[in-house]
Amino acid sequence: MSPECKIEENRRNCGCTYMSCDKRGKCCDCLKSHWRNKELPGCLFPPEIERTYDRSLRTFINYWKDKV
Ligand code: SF4
Repeated sequence: MSPECKIEENRRNCGCTYMSCDKRGKCCDCLKSHWRNKELPGCLFPPEIERTYDRSLRTFINYWKDKV
């Protein structure tokens, strides 16, 4: 059984501000493309970092390391 893709719901709830991205709502493609460059999707960053478009793993770790 293949899971149903919730692309429209994903698009509505997406925290990424790059509105014209062709991967918007396709979370599996979004994750795959960023991880290829050792980055993470914009939705995993707080808004003030997300809007810089810095999706690097280093920035993710630096932000979250003291918050968990
Ligand atoms: S996080 Fe990256 S791949 Fe995902 S929707 Fe935003 S710009 Fe596109």
